[in-house]
Amino acid sequence: LLILGIESSCDETGVALVEAQGGAHVPRLLAHALHSQIEMHQAYGGVVPELASRDHIRRVLPLAEAVFAEAGRTLGAVDVVAFTRGPGLAGALLVGAGVGCALGAALDKPVLGVHHLEGHLLSPFLSADPPEFPFVALLVSGGHTQLMRVDGVGQYALLGETIDDAAGEAFDKSAKLMGLGYPGGPALSRLAQQGDPTVFALPRPLLHSGDLDFSFAGLKTAVLTQARKLGDQLEARKADLAASTQAAIVEVLVKKTLKALRQTGLQRVVVAGGVGANRLLREQLDAACARQRVRVHYPELHLCTDNGAMIAMAAAMRLQAGREQARRDYAFDVKPRWPLDSLCT
Ligand code: ATP
Ligand code: MG
Ligand code: FE
Repeated sequence: LLILGIESSCDETGVALVEAQGGAHVPRLLAHALHSQIEMHQAYGGVVPELASRDHIRRVLPLAEAVFAEAGRTLGAVDVVAFTRGPGLAGALLVGAGVGCALGAALDKPVLGVHHLEGHLLSPFLSADPPEFPFVALLVSGGHTQLMRVDGVGQYALLGETIDDAAGEAFDKSAKLMGLGYPGGPALSRLAQQGDPTVFALPRPLLHSGDLDFSFAGLKTAVLTQARKLGDQLEARKADLAASTQAAIVEVLVKKTLKALRQTGLQRVVVAGGVGANRLLREQLDAACARQRVRVHYPELHLCTDNGAMIAMAAAMRLQAGREQARRDYAFDVKPRWPLDSLCT
């Protein structure tokens, strides 16, 4: 089964081809291509939705051509066309959904709308050493921060989530007020390498709340207060402030993940989403889990943030698990807001 996947929920256009064999084999990535709009949005300090939609239109077909060339397959060989149905920016989603359904209709092949977060969640299955169910998932992206118990495809139980900002947002907003551009997560974490994480005592919100929820809005405010207090000293102490910010975010993520493991009794963790690329998070989670003999799985670094491969993979795994049937229904409707647990039936 050859599956074409298209991602266009935000500021990355991604296209990929995944092949699903029969039985329990993990589907295989044949090729993927990605165009990031980050440079285009940087001038505005954030994603401009209208510009995002227009750029997806420009990029999606050339990316698809590149993917078919790389995989050595033809468009006519595609069995199912998958696209991101939500959540995300409505106009951006409409591009992937429109192109996906147009291709499906032209080829007389069924289509499948995929949940973007399920794509992130299943992206570690694209790695050379894929996880096995069940596991605790730490989903840490630009818009979401959730701990889940995952028993199989479509079997997700929410254990806890952020009550305000996402972890990626905490990185990005802190970075922005330090003048590190957009999206600031990677820049902040690079700068942090030269800093001392113990210099500024920043809050670890909800660390001892007794539940598995997160809160990062207060941390961002604390960083702002600290930056104001530093005044013209900020430039000289920026690396220390970056390191202290990163340490606060990572400590909360790691400790709550360990708590989720204790609570569920599970021995396996899967990290997914853009913040999963963070080096300190990987180091600290690896160290903590090694002590507990818990296995940790990550997506490959370049597949942590948005991409088409995870969308094709999620479609392949849903079809394989019998969770869904692709249909010749080309009247797409996108879902800018779409809770993940609505997939669990
Ligand atoms: P969502 O998937 O919730 O809709 P999104 O698609 O915007 O949101 P992702 O693409 O998964 O989110 O991830 C982007 C986020 O990851 C940004 O907030 C970015 O700053 C953050 N990020 C990427 N790399 C790193 C890193 N090395 N350290 C910290 N944060 C990072
Ligand atoms: Mg992005
Ligand atoms: Fe995402």
